[in-house]
Amino acid sequence: MHKNYDVIVAGTGPAGLAIASALSREGLNTVCVGPKANQPWEDNICAWADEIRPLGLDKYCDKIWPKIEIIFGENSSKVLAGAYAHFDNRKLRNALLKDIKETIAQETVTVAHDSKGSTVTLKNGDKLKAIMIVDATGHAHRLMEKPKKEADSFQNVLGILARVEKHPFDLEHMILMDFRSGFLGKKNHPPTFLYAMPFAPDLAFFEETSLADNPGVPFDLLKERLHQRLEHMKIKILKVEKNEEGALAMNPVVPDLKQRVIGYGLAGGFVHAATGWSVARSLAQSGPAARLLAEGIRAGTPPDAIAKQTYKLLWPPEILRMRKIHKSGGEFFTKIGLKAQIQFFKLFFSFPGTMWNTYLSWNSTIMKVNRSLISR
Ligand SMILES: Cc1cc2nc3c(=O)[nH]c(=O)nc-3n(C[C@H](O)[C@H](O)[C@H](O)COP(=O)(O)OP(=O)(O)OC[C@H]3O[C@@H](n4cnc5c(N)ncnc54)[C@H](O)[C@@H]3O)c2cc1C
Repeated sequence: MHKNYDVIVAGTGPAGLAIASALSREGLNTVCVGPKANQPWEDNICAWADEIRPLGLDKYCDKIWPKIEIIFGENSSKVLAGAYAHFDNRKLRNALLKDIKETIAQETVTVAHDSKGSTVTLKNGDKLKAIMIVDATGHAHRLMEKPKKEADSFQNVLGILARVEKHPFDLEHMILMDFRSGFLGKKNHPPTFLYAMPFAPDLAFFEETSLADNPGVPFDLLKERLHQRLEHMKIKILKVEKNEEGALAMNPVVPDLKQRVIGYGLAGGFVHAATGWSVARSLAQSGPAARLLAEGIRAGTPPDAIAKQTYKLLWPPEILRMRKIHKSGGEFFTKIGLKAQIQFFKLFFSFPGTMWNTYLSWNSTIMKVNRSLISR
């Protein structure tokens, strides 16, 4: 089979569907290809509510907590000025799929370029041709140049969505970090904390999280700690509704910006080096990136030039500079213990106004952080 498109998007995760949906809305003949094209997304997807509300994406959330709390110790906590959003994966995925005319449940294997476009070969031998190619295959980086340096620090998480008799958390508060570790005695290394999303008086997501470590904290240890912690808090689990386990590479590499294939989402180095997130950015940049690709394709601009313009949009100098700062911050956490992490966060979250969410936002820049500190 040999078919022609304007754009082929490889990958059907949040990034692939976000950009394929935006390209389709621009009127481009777009196909989205991935072995899991017909499968739901399993992991929790969250974002700062401030980042998704202006895009009208809050309607795809099943819960928005108006407050975010950090618990530093038994008698020390802080409620931040900011809201936290949890996506309803099914709603978001369906909304994006609605715009996409064609998906193919296949793996992409290779790509070959010529002056007019590219040919992608699928695992079943089919060949697809398009003017532009977007690689949103996550860690696989299947069609783009593999980033030179692999990530060397990992945020490992192990969580459960559980029906419980009751839990102590306020339903209005999302618990970003609960550092209480008394139940561990002196054996509190490596540093981990609880991340908790209370959905109802008897339903909550509890996740033991290691912020960044190299090598990543073993999942067995995270599981043991999570259950010890819940037992210590007298939270009785009635039923585990869902398990989540994952390693987020915290040292994402900016792709080679001179290549023809556009790296997007996790594959494109979008992961925020301080939070480990990428989905809000994939959603936010899909419209502007699709518009630029559509303009280039309609004007008959050579594919290499369209790729160059698109990378310029995705990676302006101020975002590249900020990436270096976020990365050095992330590396710092692999070297310090629990006490120092708590001290750091007490200070970090004591800065005025909107500094913390400006720094942790996907489109954070040095200028914006400075401005947020001045405009108390
Ligand atoms: C446990 C966990 C929790 C997370 N929580 C959040 C969160 O709350 N907020 C957030 O922003 N981020 C979160 N992340 C990080 C990250 O944003 C997600 O992993 C997100 O799924 C990345 O989206 P993506 O579409 O870029 O890549 P992926 O979701 O990894 O999707 C890649 C897609 O490419 C497909 N693929 C692979 N190989 C090929 C191939 N050869 N050809 C075609 N397709 C291929 C895969 O099947 C998959 O569909 C979390 C990660 C984990 C592990």
